[in-house]
Amino acid sequence: MEFRKEIEVAKVLVGGKVDESVVEIRYDPLTLQTTRIVKKNFPIQSGDFSEEIESTKSWCPFCSERIDQMAARDPEIMNGELWKRGEAVLFSNLMPYSKHSLVLRLTENHFVGVSEFKTKHFIDAFILVQDYIKKIPDGKYYVTIGMNYLKPAGSSIMHPHIQVMISEVSTDYFARLDWSALEFMESNGVDYWKKLVEDEIEGERYVGRTDKTEWIAAFAPKGFFHIMGIPEEREFAEMSEEQLKGISSGIVKILRYYGSKNLNSFNFTLYCADRLGEHFRTNFHIVARSPFGKYYWCDVFYPKMLHDESVVFFTPEEYAREIKERWEEL
Ligand SMILES: [Zn+2]
Repeated sequence: MEFRKEIEVAKVLVGGKVDESVVEIRYDPLTLQTTRIVKKNFPIQSGDFSEEIESTKSWCPFCSERIDQMAARDPEIMNGELWKRGEAVLFSNLMPYSKHSLVLRLTENHFVGVSEFKTKHFIDAFILVQDYIKKIPDGKYYVTIGMNYLKPAGSSIMHPHIQVMISEVSTDYFARLDWSALEFMESNGVDYWKKLVEDEIEGERYVGRTDKTEWIAAFAPKGFFHIMGIPEEREFAEMSEEQLKGISSGIVKILRYYGSKNLNSFNFTLYCADRLGEHFRTNFHIVARSPFGKYYWCDVFYPKMLHDESVVFFTPEEYAREIKERWEEL
């Protein structure tokens, strides 16, 4: 596996003295998509948004006193019912993104700090998604599960929730992963993610292990503090509870790490291997977003928006070392 990068050195005249600044352009080992690592002194500061928590509570459709009346229903697979497990509630997305488009209310509480999520919140949610996937008629589908948390991550509703998109047509990047993984399997005889774990487990980007799951900082991060989770069990709907626990407890550990760095907003996604083939393994990705506060700024600039190239200020090998040291206590 090739971890390729190019280095450019920029000269900057500051206070009568020439400074050299290194820019790393890294290629994702599977898709070859590029990321720029820019050494920028970026203070992570989150502001107070307690006023927003209170004001959004008064109309939130996912709070328990409103969800039964307001949630959109799936007339076919879910027979117009809401599916509930623990604090999780599964229902249809009022504005669907695909043939099967769902929302999962994750917690009873309207606001949960990133460090306060519990493993059980995610396990219960994932089991409901499994139940749903198993009821979909035969055919090829691309299954993704994702989460946007707080406004910097694109979420319009504060209440913690997950989205599920099950589509006959893959997203652009999922298609790229799918065909790149097929090529990889054909030339290497093993799936890309299994090989990635073998190559990275002793290396400087390895973060730690939870039940049946390995955690690795992405070589070419797609966002701040990008960590990947790679499960032993390949297809999402078939995963054992132990496997779901491994993924969920890893998410909770990373969120606690984010919380310890004042990061309060994040995106994650699972690209699920279900109905694809042996070349694909379900893989999980999480990135922190610029922290939410009254005057938050957006970390998606023109390079990401229009060139599809991520720009990040943090080096994977550095934060991987920090998370690895704290992995057990997180
Ligand atoms: Zn709410």
